[in-house]
Amino acid sequence: MSKLMCLICGMNIHPNTYDLNNYSFAEKNEKGKIINCPFCGVGKIYLDDEKEIYHVEYDTLDEESLKVLDHAMKLEVFNGEFYEEASNIAKDKEVKKLFKDLSNIEFMHARVHKRLGEFKELPKLHKPDYKSRLNTDKLLLEEAYKREEHAIAFYEKNSMNVCSDLIKEIFKALSDVEKQHEIIANKYI
Ligand SMILES: [Zn+2]
Repeated sequence: MSKLMCLICGMNIHPNTYDLNNYSFAEKNEKGKIINCPFCGVGKIYLDDEKEIYHVEYDTLDEESLKVLDHAMKLEVFNGEFYEEASNIAKDKEVKKLFKDLSNIEFMHARVHKRLGEFKELPKLHKPDYKSRLNTDKLLLEEAYKREEHAIAFYEKNSMNVCSDLIKEIFKALSDVEKQHEIIANKYI
């Protein structure tokens, strides 16, 4: 396997990391056949063995773009924390693994936004009590589906509000990952 790096999240893909978070993918990575970034989930067109990570000049970003990136980072942390908790609450072994993998992917999306907006740290959010409201795997999966639907709409809407074409492209790549999550959540329901 040649040395691959993800142009969106900057992670290196090694022979021992290629199958991470495989529960989060409709079509899974196999040895010698890498089709998703195992860390942020984007498609193989963003994996390269020569190019540099996508870089957006901070000084070119206007206030609105930074506001959108901040919002995007918070949304992904919010969803990442939900999936982490969902993984603890879920009863089915496979659903637990799915939620854990989804949590890892969403947290990586948050880190992508953190890097682009040069934010100092990931936000600390108020954690809602999911356990009393979402007490079956089905309810958790339905909540997951709703969140993915919301995230897709967020990227679509806000893509128009950012001033950088590269950020628009990154939003598109991440949104496609969320579309996969939506399909998978639906499959489990
Ligand atoms: Zn990646």
